Amino acid sequence: MTTRQVRKRCEALVSALDLPSPFSIDALVHQLSVQRGRPIHIHTVPIGSAISACGLWIATSTHDTIYVEEKTTRFHQEHIILHEVAHILWDHRFSDQESLGALTTLLPSISPDLIKRLLTRTNYTTGQEQEAELVASLIHATARTRAPSPSTGVRGVLEAALGIRG
Ligand SMILES: [Zn+2]
Repeated sequence: MTTRQVRKRCEALVSALDLPSPFSIDALVHQLSVQRGRPIHIHTVPIGSAISACGLWIATSTHDTIYVEEKTTRFHQEHIILHEVAHILWDHRFSDQESLGALTTLLPSISPDLIKRLLTRTNYTTGQEQEAELVASLIHATARTRAPSPSTGVRGVLEAALGIRG
């Protein structure tokens, strides 16, 4: 697939999303949980160098959990969450032995056998990473244009001047 085709696929996916307004990561995650009928839990953990990513999505039969590096800025955390949400939306799957070992260290409360069952046999491909990254950026950009703060900024002033808002 060419970069342009990937972009088109990603744009189509994001434009089909009914992004919450006003937009927030929490609202988006809540909305997706309801739509999918599967709760999405977000946990911040000190991932460090345990895996070669800042975030991780684990799917069980009943729910999805996104693990986010805790030692980073809020802005970066939100981007990581969007990135992992994008993997969920694309239904990307991820696994390899190295990650399995890292996960076992990271999440000692979960048995290695269970983790193994949670993960499928393929790694994320570069293409999947591209799709996730692009969708994360597009959601962010779309959210910014669709959900201006109602009471501030030029639009608020205009609305007040036009008598739309008191
Ligand atoms: Zn990724």
